[in-house]
Amino acid sequence: MASGTAAAVPVAIVGAGLAGLHAARLLQSEGIGFCLLEARDRLGGRILTVDANGRLSADGFDLGPSWFWPDLHPAMAATVAALGLAAFPQHDEGDVLVERLPGRPPQRYQGFRQEPRSMRLAGGTGALVQALTAGLPEGCVRLAAPVTRLSLEDRCTELTIRTADGGEDVVAADQVVIALPPRLIEATIAFAPVLSPDTRRRWRGTATWMAPHAKFVALYDWPFWREAGLSGMAQSTVGPLAEIHDATTASGAAALFGFLGIGPDQRAAAGTAALTRACLDQLARLFGAAAGHASATLLMDWTADPLTATANDRLGGAHPLPQPGPWVTGPWRDRLSLAGSETSVIAPGYLAGAMDAAQRAVAETLGRLRHAASRSLAGGRWKGD
Ligand SMILES: Cc1cc2nc3c(=O)[nH]c(=O)nc-3n(C[C@H](O)[C@H](O)[C@H](O)COP(=O)(O)OP(=O)(O)OC[C@H]3O[C@@H](n4cnc5c(N)ncnc54)[C@H](O)[C@@H]3O)c2cc1C
Repeated sequence: MASGTAAAVPVAIVGAGLAGLHAARLLQSEGIGFCLLEARDRLGGRILTVDANGRLSADGFDLGPSWFWPDLHPAMAATVAALGLAAFPQHDEGDVLVERLPGRPPQRYQGFRQEPRSMRLAGGTGALVQALTAGLPEGCVRLAAPVTRLSLEDRCTELTIRTADGGEDVVAADQVVIALPPRLIEATIAFAPVLSPDTRRRWRGTATWMAPHAKFVALYDWPFWREAGLSGMAQSTVGPLAEIHDATTASGAAALFGFLGIGPDQRAAAGTAALTRACLDQLARLFGAAAGHASATLLMDWTADPLTATANDRLGGAHPLPQPGPWVTGPWRDRLSLAGSETSVIAPGYLAGAMDAAQRAVAETLGRLRHAASRSLAGGRWKGD
């Protein structure tokens, strides 16, 4: 498309994870037109709720985030409530297990109530994605649309999309909100003009929360560990799971989940079948023989997901710290905002951070649109006249 030949959409949002979807809802509520460009053929990004077969589900198991904390993040809790979603506390009644040394039985300790209480959503965290998506204007979301390049033109920004047949398509927008982890943007999207070295360094240096991790879920016919007085919570320095919790759904489908405690290279070398067997063997050591016989298992390695992790995430990474100061500088400052969770100053890396960052990015975007409209008015012409 030659610059200026197609009408620019007011706002292009790149990435339809929680941040991108929340940004879309906020723009919709302000009556601002937008298009939402998502690389995958599904919505939600790091939010991924699936059934026993790994298919997206409205009542399933979370392979991404499970918890939110209303006491810490009241704004997110308010949005969850306003969307009419039901929340329930993480099951923590019963004893906890600790596995310290190979070949030794786990030690059992009296359980404790975690504070602040971790809450889950009925149906899984994917319920949040579904609620945010419902009611979005028809045709505003484009799946399988990875953005590869942003080009700053005189009157708009052009976003290049790689199409399924290997070709390219271009979308023009007055304003752009990129709702991806900054490190992923820096690694995968080209900018013309190029970003300043300082901006690139900052984006690359911002760890993507949980990108180095993998999650394992084992499904059972009933939560037998509860009958044995166990909460389902366990910690292990033996592995392969380091931290285990009850993942039984609000509708009663029994499950345990754990975070793998071994690094991405070891996971890749072991392969899914061997990892699954080792996880089940460990669950049997901890919770008894029945735990070794799951009705189904699910394993999601986020480090192997190129739409979340970059090569830098293989090295591990601490929780991102709040980073005040502008995320976008130089010529891009008046056209672009970042909305990925990692750019939040109140809860970087968390679900609540995605919502907070989206709100900040939309406020910046609306401010620039209004400024442009008032300048056009002062100049005696409205955009599109
Ligand atoms: C295993 C795991 C457990 C977690 N547990 C918790 C928890 O319990 N509580 C909590 O608060 N947080 C948790 N988190 C973090 C939480 O998932 C994130 O904070 C949140 O989902 C981030 O949302 P986001 O929209 O900012 O980014 P993302 O969800 O990463 O969304 C980015 C979107 O952009 C898309 N995309 C990427 N590249 C392109 C491109 N070039 N063009 C177009 N689209 C693109 C991606 O496909 C994706 O849909 C966890 C994360 C993981 C992985």
